[in-house]
Amino acid sequence: MAGSRIDDLWGRRTPYRSGGTWPVRVDEHYEEGITPADVEQWVPTASLLHSNGDAMDIAVADGRIVGVRGRAEDRVNHGRLDIKDLHAWTANSSADRLTVPLVRRDGELVETDWDTAMDTVVARCRREMETKGPRSIGFYTSGQLFAEEYYTLATLARAGLGTNHLDGNTRLCTATAGEALKESFGSDGQPASYTDVDHADVIALFGHNAAATQPVLWMRILDRLAGEAPPQLLVVDPRTTPVAEHATVHLAPRPGTNLALLNALVHETIARGHVDRDYVHSHTVGYEKLAAQVSGCTSQWAAEICGLAAAEITAAAELLGGSERLLTTVLQGFYQSHQATAAAVQVNNLVLLRGMLGRPGCGVLQMNGQPTAQNTRECGANGDLPGFRNWQNDEHIDQLAEVWNVDPLRVPHFGPSTHAMQMFRFAEQGSLTFLWISATNPAVSLPELARIRTILADENLFVVAQDIFPTETTALADVVLPAATWGEKTGTFTNADRTVHLSQQAVAPPGQARSDLDIFCDFARRMDLRDRDGEPLVHWHDPESAFEAWKRCSAGRPCDYSGMSYALLRERGGIQWPCTAEHPDGTERLYLEGEFWAAPANCETYGRDLGTGASVEATTYEALNPQGKALLKGAAYTPAHEEVDDDFPLHLITGRTIFHFHTRTKTARAPALNDAAPQVWVELAPQDAAEHDLSSGDQAEVVTARGSLRGEVRIGTCRTGVVFVPFHYGYWDSDHPAGPASAAQGTAANETTVTDWDPVSKQPLFKLSAARLEKVTS
Ligand code: SF4
Repeated sequence: MAGSRIDDLWGRRTPYRSGGTWPVRVDEHYEEGITPADVEQWVPTASLLHSNGDAMDIAVADGRIVGVRGRAEDRVNHGRLDIKDLHAWTANSSADRLTVPLVRRDGELVETDWDTAMDTVVARCRREMETKGPRSIGFYTSGQLFAEEYYTLATLARAGLGTNHLDGNTRLCTATAGEALKESFGSDGQPASYTDVDHADVIALFGHNAAATQPVLWMRILDRLAGEAPPQLLVVDPRTTPVAEHATVHLAPRPGTNLALLNALVHETIARGHVDRDYVHSHTVGYEKLAAQVSGCTSQWAAEICGLAAAEITAAAELLGGSERLLTTVLQGFYQSHQATAAAVQVNNLVLLRGMLGRPGCGVLQMNGQPTAQNTRECGANGDLPGFRNWQNDEHIDQLAEVWNVDPLRVPHFGPSTHAMQMFRFAEQGSLTFLWISATNPAVSLPELARIRTILADENLFVVAQDIFPTETTALADVVLPAATWGEKTGTFTNADRTVHLSQQAVAPPGQARSDLDIFCDFARRMDLRDRDGEPLVHWHDPESAFEAWKRCSAGRPCDYSGMSYALLRERGGIQWPCTAEHPDGTERLYLEGEFWAAPANCETYGRDLGTGASVEATTYEALNPQGKALLKGAAYTPAHEEVDDDFPLHLITGRTIFHFHTRTKTARAPALNDAAPQVWVELAPQDAAEHDLSSGDQAEVVTARGSLRGEVRIGTCRTGVVFVPFHYGYWDSDHPAGPASAAQGTAANETTVTDWDPVSKQPLFKLSAARLEKVTS
C-alpha cells in the first residue's frame, strides 16, 4: 500500500550537514482507495504514540478519519511520520470500541447509561470519603491524556477531594527523567531541543533505542549521519540495536551496572582533563564531593563490573571528552534499571562538567517515553505538584491554594505524592478502597501481574476504568467509562523537547463515548466540589477554558504557558515552553546563561540522596546551594537486589518493538501494525540459544521467581547472558481476556518481572530480573 512503509521503517534519507536545516519530507498514508483529492477537511494534531510530538494533519472524509499527513512546516518533524503515526489511526474505528458505560451487576459487567454509571461512582466515592477519608481514594492515570485533562484531574483530586494518591503510568516510564532533571537543575524541564541534533558533533544515547522509541528523531540523526561532517555516536545498550549499528563506540554493559559505567566515564572525564573548569566553578556546586566519590572508579574497575573491556570505556570517555558540541539522550535502558536516577544524573553531570549547556548542539534530553508524559508531570497528575511546585515549600502551596481559591491546608502536602507502586500496595493492604484508572492498563503493564490481578479483583477495592477499548483492566473493573480518543477531542500536549501542540477534534466519538475532560468535569460537578467562596472548584467547561486555567497555574514557573493560546498554537504549530510575554516565540534551549531553577525559593525539590532516596531537608539544601546553581551529585555503585544465580542464570530485560504501543490496545487493532508483530517473542544471543538447544521459531519458556511466559525464539542481538522480551502482549484478544487461563499460559512479560523500584524516582525496574529458559517441547 502506498506510504505504508512497513518494510522501510525510517524512509528515504534526506542528508544535511552540520549546522544546516533538516530538509522537509512529507510522509502520508491513506485508507485504500482514498487520495488527498478526496479529503474534505485537514485537522491539525500531533502523534499520540510516542514522545516525539510529530505534527500531522488528520484527513477527514464522510465524517471519518481516512488518513494522515505529516506537517511540513512544524519544527519537530518537518513532515515526517513514523510507522505508528501512519497506521494507528485505523484502530479508532475498531468495531470493539467501548461506546456505552458498563457497571458490574452480580459479577457481570452490563450496559448502562451515563447517569447510572456516574451516580454509582459518585456514591461510592462519597461513601469512602465519609467512612475512611480522602486517603482511601486513589487515581492512576496515563501519559496519553491532554494537559487540560491532567490539570482537571489534579485539581479535583488534590484541591477537591484532598487526596495525595494521584499518579500516572508515567511512573513506569519517565519518573526518572523528571527526577534526574530535578536533582541536577532544581526543576524538571529538558535543557536541550531536537534542533541540537542539527549541530552536535557527538550524540551519546544512554539506554535509548531511538530507532524504535522516537523513530522521527532517529530519522533526523540518520540524515545527519548521511550528510557532510556527520556526528559520532556513543551508544550504551546491551543489545546491538539499529542505533548501536551506527555507533562509533557501542558499550553493551551487563544489566544493572549502568551506574558503575557512568561513574567510570565521569572519573575518566575528570582524570583526562576534559572538565570545563570555568563553567563548573561559575555554575555548579558539588564538584569536589563528586570528584572524590568517583576517584576510584577507573575504567579497569568498571570493566570488571560491567563485563566490558577497559579500552572500550576509555574510548567512550575520549569521544565524550573530545566533543565540542555534545548532545546526550537517556531513556528506559537507564530509567528502568538498577540505580536508575543515580545513573541518569551522571549523564547530566557529564554535560555540566563539560560545560555543554545553552549552546546549539549541546545539552541533555532526559527523554520521555509517552506522548503526554511531560504534561502528566507539569500539570501535577503524577508525583509532582502542578507547575513544578515543591511540596516542601509553603509558599508554593500558598500559590496553588490561591490559584484554586482554597485554604492551603486543603492541598495535601504532608509528604510527597503517593507513587503508583505504593498505591497498589495500599490497595493490597486495604487502606485504599477506591481506585479510578484512566487510559492505562495496569493488568498488563505493572510488574508481577498475578499480584496485580489479585489486587484489582479484590471485592474490597472499587475500580473505575476509563478507556477506549476493553482491556485486561476493564475486565476486572466495577464501572467502565467509555472515553473519546485522539482525533475525537481537543486539547494540548507537550513532547520531550517542550514543544506544545494543539490537537483538534476531527470526528465525533463513537456511541456515547465522551472526552476524558468531560468525564472529569462531570464528576467534579456531581461531587459538588467547591472553592472557598462556594463557587465550583472546576470552573472551566471545555478544552480552551481548561487551557486558560492551566496557563494561570503555570505562570511564573519553569513550564510557563502564559504566552500561549489556542489561536497562537493554531497559527504557529508547535511552540516550546516557556512561552511568556518576554519570550512570545517560546524558548528553544534552557539555561543559556547558566541560570537554573535551583534557588531554594523556587526549586521544585530540595532533592534526595541518590543512593537511598532519603529526602534532603530545606535547611540542608539552603546551606548547600544558596545561589541556585546546578548540582553535581553522585552515588556509589551497589550490586542489584536480584542477581543471576545457578537457578536463574540469565538477565531478563523487557522493552518495545517499533510496531506497538504499550499493551497493544490501539496498535493491535491496526491491522498493518499487528501483522508486523502479532505475538510475543523471546530474543537471545546465539551462544545462549546454542546452550539451550534453541533455534529460531522454537517455543521457549522464560521462568523467574514470580512466574513464566512462553514465546517464540528469535536469535537476536542481545549481549550473551541477556534475554529480551517485548512487554506489549497480554490477553484481551485471547479466550481469557482478564489473564492467562493457567500459570503455564502466560504471554505477558510482566508475569515474570520483579516488584522493585528505584529509591529516588520510584520507577519500577523492568530491566532487571533473574531468569532461566526452558525449551517447550509439546
Ligand atoms: S511503554 Fe514506553 S512509553 Fe509506555 S510507559 Fe513504558 S516506557 Fe513509557
